Amino acid sequence: MTLDTRPNDMLDLWDRDHFVHPSTHLARHARGDDSGHIITGGEGAHIIDRDGRQLLDGFAGLYCVNVGYGRQKIADAIAEQARELAYYHAYVGHGTEASITLARMVAERAPEGLNRVYFGLSGSDANETNLKLVRLYNAILGRPEKAKVISRWRGYHGSGLMSGSLTGLKTFHDRFGLPMDGVLHTHAPHYLRRPAKCEDMDEPAFSRWLADELDDMIQREGPDTVAAFIAEPVLGTGGIVPPPQGYWPAIMEVLEGHDVLLIADEVVTGFGRLGTMFGSDHYGISPDIITIAKGLTSAYAPLSGSIVSDGMYEVLMEGTDRFGPLGHGWTYSAHPICAAAGIANLRLIDELNLLENAASTGTYLRTGLTDALAGHGHVAEVRGEGLLTAVELMADPKKRQPFDPDAKVAATAVAEMRSQGVIARAMPESDIIGLAPPLCLSRAEANQIIDAVAGAVGKLSA
Ligand code: PLP
Repeated sequence: MTLDTRPNDMLDLWDRDHFVHPSTHLARHARGDDSGHIITGGEGAHIIDRDGRQLLDGFAGLYCVNVGYGRQKIADAIAEQARELAYYHAYVGHGTEASITLARMVAERAPEGLNRVYFGLSGSDANETNLKLVRLYNAILGRPEKAKVISRWRGYHGSGLMSGSLTGLKTFHDRFGLPMDGVLHTHAPHYLRRPAKCEDMDEPAFSRWLADELDDMIQREGPDTVAAFIAEPVLGTGGIVPPPQGYWPAIMEVLEGHDVLLIADEVVTGFGRLGTMFGSDHYGISPDIITIAKGLTSAYAPLSGSIVSDGMYEVLMEGTDRFGPLGHGWTYSAHPICAAAGIANLRLIDELNLLENAASTGTYLRTGLTDALAGHGHVAEVRGEGLLTAVELMADPKKRQPFDPDAKVAATAVAEMRSQGVIARAMPESDIIGLAPPLCLSRAEANQIIDAVAGAVGKLSA
């Protein structure tokens, strides 16, 4: 077979015939029933497709292109690193200037007491690393049976066998035989969709109920079998839901009471999305491990990390004195090209003052959406923090009655927005329009998003 690399009109066909896409209806794509989208460029908060159409990317790819598209400084850093040293591994004490410098930069930005970084490639593999480190930690402490992990329904932590088990969305479990043994889920901390038995509770009471549920689960399983609780500071893919009032202090108290580690999955919230460097800073959370990915490089190269607390790392170091080197590693851990992208990206976040912009433009966006959607009969909630925002739609918000899922209301609204030149994401297993634009979003671009949401939602009752 000869490869034809000229710009060509065969891409659609090659795509249908050869390219297996994630989270895609494989049969419809292969048959050409659903049109694919071929993206060719990007600048700032916009992408350009193959037909030359500019779209305002209200979801920053998969909430990852935080500094925006087309950043020359990052492209240059990648090219320079590729020329100087494209690769060397990180095993047996090897490192590169880029990987060591980035570890230092991450530690400088991380919350107090979290100073050691293991680099991976994706949020999913970082959570796999976390689960192994948690097991190792307890094995070194002589309690290997303390290995179960508790997650939350509607949490998202990846799509591997273990990370997909942690994810609390049925789509990621059904027909894969997941969740695996040793992974349990508590209720989602979503006040609007609280269970009927919590109907009369206010937010603090609901948070207390959730903490009690976690406490009961740990007691039932046996505290000496439960190793860790994993959670996103703000529930992300499961619906973009900030925690109900009082949630984090109540949860942390339960975990401390049972010596259960806390993994804060900050793949979405890390490096500025909420207007603070980390969601843990934002909510006063004290995790033992933080998962990072997306915003670490703004997706200019694939890189993730597990930031480990000093206390946990002491134990891991002592373990290697007793049992030998860490039995864990990926070929591409701390890849220097990705690390170079990370350094340039973190510098850019500071230079452009993007945390500040995420906080102020995020508030502007939500205020504008709230005003534009006021009085609409199907808008149940406009919520979020920083530049992470959701518009939840329901058949009857007063009765908290959702639409029939088969009606695909949010997906229809998002398709309508796209036809108006704005990309949003219909969040899975719900009717939620998700917005997570690049952190460099301007107010004029925020206005464009507001108009597109209002236009699309306006058509719902038409
Ligand atoms: N954790 C969270 C909170 C995420 O949102 C995601 C992806 O969206 C992941 C983990 C998995 O990351 P990846 O898709 O890079 O494996």
